[in-house]
Amino acid sequence: MAEVNGQPLKLAGKISIITGGASGIGEATARLFATHGAFVVVADIQDEGHQVATSIGSNRCTYFHCDVTDERQVISVVDFTVETYGHLDIMFSNAGIVSTSVQTILDLDLTQFDALIAVIARGSAACVKRRVRGCIICTASVAGSRGGSVRTDYVMAKHAVVGLVRSASKQLGVHGIRVNCVSPSAVATPLSKRSPERARKTMKLYESLSSLKGVELGVADVAEAVVFLASDGSAFITGHDLAVDGGLTKLPDADD
Ligand code: NAD
Repeated sequence: MAEVNGQPLKLAGKISIITGGASGIGEATARLFATHGAFVVVADIQDEGHQVATSIGSNRCTYFHCDVTDERQVISVVDFTVETYGHLDIMFSNAGIVSTSVQTILDLDLTQFDALIAVIARGSAACVKRRVRGCIICTASVAGSRGGSVRTDYVMAKHAVVGLVRSASKQLGVHGIRVNCVSPSAVATPLSKRSPERARKTMKLYESLSSLKGVELGVADVAEAVVFLASDGSAFITGHDLAVDGGLTKLPDADD
């Protein structure tokens, strides 16, 4: 049997779509999926996805331009995948953006709010409603289970993703489809660099709340969690929000 790091491949022959696969968490997951024997369609609005696909290898990975805010484009990437590979086993709905303004409730910029909700909440729904054969994973966030002093739009959108996963897992289980999400804390990616000052503050706060002192979350850690949720090793897990956050959300202090 083929192996990676002495372990059997976890996704041998599986067909997957990764939205937001051109960068950050999505790119790291695309690389790890391919290492584990999956075929990957990187679906993104950034045509840098071409380079990601080329560097992974054209026999394992293809780029398809797709804006998840447009349902027709989501349908197109699913149709392309099924026509090319015969079926679809794994949908990883991961595309995301952040607003450039602080977005407290009192100064919520509703234009930015609409744009963010369109990608994260509406885009995830457009991906989850496509019928896959095996499983769906979404990228939520620790922001999907806590309030925040800023980023109200992002917190609302990520709560929506967790709600989507909970409802869809109940509704699709009868078809043998599992639906889960990963919820990372702060990880350095191009997204976090879009507002570096705020990202630094968030990183510092999350680091102080993490139980794993001196350990920094990397995109590879998130990718490993996604591979687990996509693999047969999680065959009886559905509706789960897997925190990848050093215990930040699951281990609050008793006096919190
Ligand atoms: P990133 O900016 O590196 O990647 C996001 C990708 O989504 C980009 O390739 C971008 O082009 C793509 N994208 C944006 N809008 C799109 C659209 N309309 N259609 C298709 N693709 C689109 O950022 P990342 O940190 O890797 O973010 C990935 C996911 O992880 C996001 O959902 C984000 O909210 C979530 N997340 C990130 C962090 C963090 O600290 N970086 C923490 C928790 C959750």
